[in-house]
Amino acid sequence: MNTVSSLLDNEWLERYKRISRLNIRSSIYDVTNNCNLRCKGCFFFSSDEHKKSPDEPDVRKWEEFIDREKARGVNLAILIGGEPTLYLDRVEAFYRRLPTYCATNGIIKVPRDRFPDMMVGISLWGDEEDEKTLRGRDVFSISSTNYAGDPYTYYLYTITPKQIGKTERIIRKIADVGLKVHMQLLSNDEGVDGFSWNKEDLAAIRDEMDEMLDKFPETVISSKYYHEVITTGKMLGRPFGWMECPSVTKPLDRRKPQPRRLIEFIRWAADLKTMHRCCTSETRDCSTCKDGAAHMSWVMVNKRDHMRSTRDFQNWIEVYEMFAKLYKFIPW
Ligand code: SF4
Ligand code: SF4
Repeated sequence: MNTVSSLLDNEWLERYKRISRLNIRSSIYDVTNNCNLRCKGCFFFSSDEHKKSPDEPDVRKWEEFIDREKARGVNLAILIGGEPTLYLDRVEAFYRRLPTYCATNGIIKVPRDRFPDMMVGISLWGDEEDEKTLRGRDVFSISSTNYAGDPYTYYLYTITPKQIGKTERIIRKIADVGLKVHMQLLSNDEGVDGFSWNKEDLAAIRDEMDEMLDKFPETVISSKYYHEVITTGKMLGRPFGWMECPSVTKPLDRRKPQPRRLIEFIRWAADLKTMHRCCTSETRDCSTCKDGAAHMSWVMVNKRDHMRSTRDFQNWIEVYEMFAKLYKFIPW
């Protein structure tokens, strides 16, 4: 049987040791059901998750809830919604208690005097034309002004099929405002015409993502193996989908056999009682899911299977490092 030290030389062994100490246990929290945008294809609104429960308005209830989450072993709170920055008192309740990552559309700037080192991920849905089609306005122009040069912020660039051949311009714009970028693919939950993937497009965007990583190594936080897995939907020959997904809420997970999964992962609704099925849309057909976090977690929880060769294990280390960088567990 292969062991870590039989597969890795000293340099890779050091990289492995750095991440193996982390023991990240994340869960996801809907901070609110409200948003200041309504994007076509937003998984949250298109699946009616915002109607499942009301917001808990009392910030003291949030504080007590977060203390319980911490006692449950969570050491990374991923805040989504809705738009978390509409309720900064709730965000602050997390930030004061746990390492916290806040997803946002970037329209409201997180005040850095209140949240000096909170990780912020700004959603970006393509170029000006795509954002106007899907989100109703060119959101990048606002978010990039708000966050230019911020060392704790990156763009989460959701690439659509219409972006093929155009990603370089976007990534250059992000580099020019002194920010980083991580890429994932649109799942087109609302079936907007022209925004669904086919095999050829996925092959083309994989090449383009690889090229962007080579061209902008200081700006793009990614790995070529992640590009392979998310564009092919395959890992070590296995297809991604419901029976493999690691990001299913633990108390709702009745799959048999149980796949490898994120330990004690829960996605909580904003009433602090309701749980959603998984890290993304409750109604999405898993065979169409292109969620970036679910794909990278899929790789991460399957460490043993990647120990079949040095290259496979190095691929695993690179994906883990990418995740750790995105949540600032290790430097960019
Ligand atoms: S900004 Fe985010 S939460 Fe709001 S509608 Fe768009 S995708 Fe959904
Ligand atoms: S929609 Fe995606 S993240 Fe959710 S259970 Fe299905 S595969 Fe997993």
